[in-house]
Amino acid sequence: MKIWLNGQLVDKSKAKITVMDHGTLYGDGVFEGIRAYNGKIFQCQAHVDRLFDSAREIRLAIPYTKQELINAMAEALEADGVSDGYIRLVVTRGEGTLGLSPSKCLVPNTFIIADQIALYPEQMYRDGLAVIIAKTVRTAASMLKPSVKSLNYLNNIMAKIEAIDAGVIEAIMLNDQGNVAECTGDNIFTIVDGRLITPPASAGILEGITRQVVLKLGERLGLSPVERDITPEAVYAADECFLTGTAAEVIPVTKIDDKMIGSGSPGPLTLKLLAAFREFIASGEQL
Ligand code: PMP
Repeated sequence: MKIWLNGQLVDKSKAKITVMDHGTLYGDGVFEGIRAYNGKIFQCQAHVDRLFDSAREIRLAIPYTKQELINAMAEALEADGVSDGYIRLVVTRGEGTLGLSPSKCLVPNTFIIADQIALYPEQMYRDGLAVIIAKTVRTAASMLKPSVKSLNYLNNIMAKIEAIDAGVIEAIMLNDQGNVAECTGDNIFTIVDGRLITPPASAGILEGITRQVVLKLGERLGLSPVERDITPEAVYAADECFLTGTAAEVIPVTKIDDKMIGSGSPGPLTLKLLAAFREFIASGEQL
């Protein structure tokens, strides 16, 4: 397996960065998780744009152009013979001292891993997912903007640990207002009276690329999508609920804590959106 590291394809065993990298010492850096379908990078431009937006927010100058990174992802996919898989694109602050100051980090490290994708089991798409509402509150935008996809995922990891402790694989995270924000690695939608609802950016979420696609498909399917706050009570009482993400695509949720959602089976509109999402992938349409 080859890794694209700072402009070169190197063997995985030789793909190393220093322990003094602030990505390692402080989680100081940004990343993207991207899907390749049939040899094509899904929503490539949107992902690269989000990476640069994240980097700008943390004042990290990526030492490549967007086009150079797009070409590099294609190289990494080809080198590993990955046609349907997952791409991890990471830019760290680079080597520095033990102090926090990023000004001591002169050269960011950039790497790309093209690998197989770890999917949720197919049975979860048929039966739906059970999730919990975590006690860990999502980091507020006033602390660190959740719209920045940074290497600092501890907030999400703590909620993920709660999920694992409860015997499920995802957790809904509330924001500091007590409303639903998102899950540890997925966005969340509900359907109420035939209407598609998802928390707005102001709820403190990572604005998922999959979420954007689903909002567009919801419009086309006549589900009058709306971005508005969702309370925990409203999510329990929704007719349907599902999660979206690069790996998950569109996955139904049928149980939250001890409450059954809708009939307890994946909802019909959720399944319609999942089918539309898969058609959207095949169409090659860009956002
Ligand atoms: N929220 C969080 C916290 C995430 O990490 C992710 C990506 N794994 C998402 C939402 C979904 O975003 P996307 O659809 O771009 O994968």
